[in-house]
Amino acid sequence: MEKVVVVHYGEIATKGKNREFFERKLLNNIRRATGVKVRRKYGRIEVEYSNGVVEKLRKIPGIRYFGVGLKTSLEMDEVKKAAFEVLPDSFDSFRVDTSRSNKNFPLNSVEINREVGGYLVEKTGKKVDLKNPDVTVWIEICDKEAYVYSERVEGIGGLPVGSAGKVVALISGGIDSPVAAYMMMKRGCEIVMAHFFNQTMHSPKVREKIKLLAEKLAEYQGEVKLYMVPFKDIQMEIIKSTPPKLRMIVYRRSMMRMSNLIAEKEGCKAVVTGDSLSQVASQTLENLNVVYSASKLAVLPPLIGMDKEEIVSLARKIGTYEISIMPYEDCCSFMIAKHPETKARLEEVVKYENFSELERGAVEKSEIVNVKVF
Ligand code: ATP
Ligand code: MG
Repeated sequence: MEKVVVVHYGEIATKGKNREFFERKLLNNIRRATGVKVRRKYGRIEVEYSNGVVEKLRKIPGIRYFGVGLKTSLEMDEVKKAAFEVLPDSFDSFRVDTSRSNKNFPLNSVEINREVGGYLVEKTGKKVDLKNPDVTVWIEICDKEAYVYSERVEGIGGLPVGSAGKVVALISGGIDSPVAAYMMMKRGCEIVMAHFFNQTMHSPKVREKIKLLAEKLAEYQGEVKLYMVPFKDIQMEIIKSTPPKLRMIVYRRSMMRMSNLIAEKEGCKAVVTGDSLSQVASQTLENLNVVYSASKLAVLPPLIGMDKEEIVSLARKIGTYEISIMPYEDCCSFMIAKHPETKARLEEVVKYENFSELERGAVEKSEIVNVKVF
């Protein structure tokens, strides 16, 4: 008997021919995050148990759930002993829940439940409760081994990071954009982060905050490359040429074009933002059309249909909320109108735009920070 973790993935199991590709990605991501022995078994992944491994697995996109318990041979006596071993110290009722992918095993799952259940009643004197037990003992009968556990942990689901390609995630210092980046990682994207900042506005604090967000997000993909793009010169030009009402839109279009330049350098295929429809003035359909049309690449706003409370609760869950609420200077709020345009028109906005050289220069001058968690 050996203490192991048996990892289950949801969606990738249904990916047909690509299945092997997805499984390998997940396997490599787990191996990199945990640093322990990891093996692919048909339909699941076996991970050697070690301290801290559970916390790491909780954060790896692509894992639906995992069991922490014992691996045994296919001998029923061993399976029974393992079932007894994995029981917690105190409980009143239990049930046994078997799944059997090995169809050659002499007993079917109902028979295994009965036999192991009977054994446990005899050994412990506790009662079986199928509906609402204190403990469930899960048994998985595979081709060459069985897994037995009573500790089952939910993962975050989704798809393995990297399986969908790379994207540039625009990270402000607010609550929304880190959640948006997380959602795309969870859908299989590897993110490169971009933050635009005005160097004269308390930038050391801003820098620290964005770095903390990068470190938090890196927990889900191992490492993250962060572009800190100096925005002051462009912002000064915009302020010179553009009426206050339209500045926000022009700022954001400029960020889009620079994100496309970063995408080109990094091999990214889309841009991610934290926009949520109608949450603020810049997020009306009219304005989003005008802003997004500055990007050649697809713009993905995963929070577009979510309410603020939903976004906040996700931010808390992933651990970015506490960082996001730290005070910071939002460079976008610099010198804009009290009542910015909510129905921008592209023909009107483009009249004020002539910064492509400055934009290229700003991306070139970016400070690139590599954040590595594992
Ligand atoms: P957030 O909470 O993410 O700041 P928000 O609801 O405050 O979003 P805006 O400030 O209008 O909305 O920004 C919309 C999106 O534009 C952000 O979610 C982010 O993706 C991007 N963005 C805005 N400002 C910056 C910035 N300085 N650097 C990088 N991206 C930015
Ligand atoms: Mg904001």
